[in-house]
Amino acid sequence: MAEVNTVLGPISSDELGMTLIHEHLTLCYPGWECDALAVPYDREAIATSCVEALEEAKAHGVKTLVEASPNDLNRDVELDRMVSKRSGINIICATGLYMESMGKPAYFKFRNQVFDTATEIYETFMKEITQGIGDTGVKAGVIKVGTGQGEISTHEETVLKAAARAQKETGVPIITHTEAGTMGPEQAALLISEGANPRRIMIGHIGGNANLQYHISVLEQGVYIAFDRLGIDFLFPDTLRKACIIGLLGIGYANRIMLSHDYAPYWLGRPSELPDFVKPLLANWSYAHVFKNIIPALKQAGVSDDNIHTMMVDNPRQLFA
Ligand SMILES: [Zn+2]
Repeated sequence: MAEVNTVLGPISSDELGMTLIHEHLTLCYPGWECDALAVPYDREAIATSCVEALEEAKAHGVKTLVEASPNDLNRDVELDRMVSKRSGINIICATGLYMESMGKPAYFKFRNQVFDTATEIYETFMKEITQGIGDTGVKAGVIKVGTGQGEISTHEETVLKAAARAQKETGVPIITHTEAGTMGPEQAALLISEGANPRRIMIGHIGGNANLQYHISVLEQGVYIAFDRLGIDFLFPDTLRKACIIGLLGIGYANRIMLSHDYAPYWLGRPSELPDFVKPLLANWSYAHVFKNIIPALKQAGVSDDNIHTMMVDNPRQLFA
C-alpha cells in the first residue's frame, strides 16, 4: 500500500480500483492557440463534456483515470479538479514533457546551450511531485515522458534521464509515449540504467505494432506495458492489438499488461467534423470501449475474469504501490 497523489489530494493505492492508465480530458497539441478560428478555451464547457463522457466508464466500474497530459500538452489541473469533483472519479495528473517533435521543447533546448537542463528538468519534476503544480497545491502522481519514431533525440534522452532520477527519489511511476510502435525496449533500458525501478515504469502505446518479439523484449526488462490506444484504429487496427493481448496473456503476462484508450472527449482548436474516411476508424473510441468491446472479445477467446481484474485493477495498483 502506498499514498497516491490525485488532483483532490492523496489516497491509498488500495482505493484506486478499476483504473484507466492513460487517458486525457482534452486533445491538445501545442499550436491550437495559433488557429484564428479556434474556439476560445472555456473550462466550464470542457468540464461538462468530460463529465458526460466519463459517465459510461463510471457505469462500468471505473474509479480512477490517469490524465497523461505532460506540462506542454495543455495540462490543466483546475479542469482536472472540476471533472474529478463532478464525476466522482479519481484523477491522477502528470508532470513531464512530451516527445520533442510534437511538444514544446524550445525553452529547455535554448537553455541547454548554457545551462544544465538535465538538472533543471529534474527540478521541475521534483517541484511538481513534492510541492505541487504552480500554486494549485495539486501534486503530480505520475511522470510522463515520450520519444519520437525510430529514435530517442538528445532532448528526449535528457528528459528521460531527469524522469528516472525523479522516479528514483520519489517512487512516483513513469508512464511513456512511444511513437508508431518504436523505441519501447530502448526507453525501458535507458530509464532502468538511470536508476528507475522497473516496477514503477509503464511503457505506453505498446500496441503501435503487432510484433510480439518487440513486446516481449520490453516485458523481459521487468516493466509494465499498456495497450492504451484501444479504439484508435486510425493508427493501428484493434484486431491486431487484441491478438497480441490474447497471445501475451496466453504465455503468462497478465500481471504486466494494462488497457486504456488515450481518449479525449474535447479537442482544442477549431470546430471540425471528421472526414468520412476517418469516422469508422475512430467509431469505438471512448472511455468505455475496453469494457464494451475489448473485454468481451478477450473473454470469448478464453481470457479469465481473474486476468481481466489483474489488468484493470491489480496492475495499476502495483505500479503505484
Ligand atoms: Zn496520450
